[in-house]
Amino acid sequence: MGVISHHLDPTQPTGLLLPGGFAQPNEDLVVAAPYSGEPLARVALAGPGDVDVCVRAAEAHLPPPLADERAAVLERAAVLVRERSEAFARTICLEAGKPIAQARGEAARCVDTLTFAAVEARRLAGEVVPMAGSAAGRGKLAFTIREPVGVVGAISPFNFPLNLVAHKVAPAIAAGCPVVLKPAEQTPLSALLLAAVLLEAGLPPGYLTVLPGYGEGAGRALVDHPGTRLISFTGSPPVGWGIRERQPRKAVALELGNSTPVIVAADADLDRAAARLAASGFTHAGQSCISVQRVYVERPAYAAFLERFAARVEDLVVGDPMDERTDVGPLIDEEARERVVAWVGEAVDRGARVVTGGRVQDGLLRPTVLDGITSDMKVAGHEVFGPVVGCAPYDTEDEAVALANASPYGLQAGVFTARVDRALTWARRLQFGGVVVNETPTFRADQQPYGGVKGSGNTREGPAYAVRAMTEPRLVIIDLPG
Ligand code: NAD
Repeated sequence: MGVISHHLDPTQPTGLLLPGGFAQPNEDLVVAAPYSGEPLARVALAGPGDVDVCVRAAEAHLPPPLADERAAVLERAAVLVRERSEAFARTICLEAGKPIAQARGEAARCVDTLTFAAVEARRLAGEVVPMAGSAAGRGKLAFTIREPVGVVGAISPFNFPLNLVAHKVAPAIAAGCPVVLKPAEQTPLSALLLAAVLLEAGLPPGYLTVLPGYGEGAGRALVDHPGTRLISFTGSPPVGWGIRERQPRKAVALELGNSTPVIVAADADLDRAAARLAASGFTHAGQSCISVQRVYVERPAYAAFLERFAARVEDLVVGDPMDERTDVGPLIDEEARERVVAWVGEAVDRGARVVTGGRVQDGLLRPTVLDGITSDMKVAGHEVFGPVVGCAPYDTEDEAVALANASPYGLQAGVFTARVDRALTWARRLQFGGVVVNETPTFRADQQPYGGVKGSGNTREGPAYAVRAMTEPRLVIIDLPG
């Protein structure tokens, strides 16, 4: 096996992407590698003044370039990201601590996101209004065209530093909305790399600008700037709902957290359920908004499931995310790790049993399975965002549904059962944006409508759905005398 390099590509941009190109003002932001804790890069730090410059430059791109030109930029960018996918994967791995194989998956998904956004740019259209259907509409022809809402302020989280940026920027390009992006302060590098590719693909300078900075600095300024017409936010629920409250008159699209439940019926294929949930509960050390967190198993199958699940989890390789063999790497920082360790301790104090894991080894929290979780524990009632999955038995279908729904969140849920009628009933009764049957609820394809109900948000992403949110219908009525 070759020597593992933990260095960034020397061509990695580290400046602010301003309307005139990449720039390096005085102040900088130190990006640390989550695995070693060592500084990985120094990136230019944006402040509120930069936001104003970028929003004004963005406004100058309205009306936007033609839709077919925007589609062509996205198509060329998709080709470039595919060609350079290993460089993107390395950057994701280094800055987010995401194991390299999973980082490659994210880079491949970014290609999908760009490709589907290009399709949406090409087929962006309104609809014909059936005016002949009423006496009032008689003698009129009416239709809608879709117009961009205006400048989008995009704010993204650390856990998918490339593809969640693409889920905002690519639909904005498709919709004709210029966009100012503030990536997460922990992971600005993948966003800058993607922006460089979009410029190379022909995006006009200033249509997209990228401002690495803090939430309370550049983030707040972007939210409050009168020129941003839609804030597209992915991140934690308190920050997201805080933005909604601060800007009641602005369009605010929120993609927030979850406490992802799974119901496993006794008739399910237990081996498959154990294998799929063990793999997905610990992807990127559980730092996915749809990471499996709570597993409710029908009591007769509970012991068998727990044994198989724990065995699979114990097989996961924990270590350096740059190592090809690694399944589970670090949490984003020490503070996150200490919080998750404390939550496991609280669950144990309240009666849960650690089946495996539960301890920190070489700085990494081992994948942890808890037996006997209850809804009052933080590991059940809140979003863990760490490598912890809690399990509990249930006796009746009603109880299973009530347990799964006993959460302030509603992004995705999963069910494993051999009975299609039961799966369909649960799909209707589970209060989530998506219900995944006989597959992990950590599943996401980038074209699907993705988003939550309750505390998990108020929108759907996926290029077709995001483009809808980023455009508004303009009604045209033509009088047809006679
Ligand atoms: P976070 O809320 O801490 O930060 C997200 C972004 O918001 C960052 O760019 C941050 O700088 C910015 N921010 C913070 N305070 C702000 C403020 N006052 N004004 C404007 N911007 C501000 O979230 P995180 O820790 O980066 O990400 C983890 C969270 O994101 C989890 O809750 C996870 O579930 C959620 N998430 C949701 C989805 C989804 O699609 N639903 C996807 C990924 C992550």
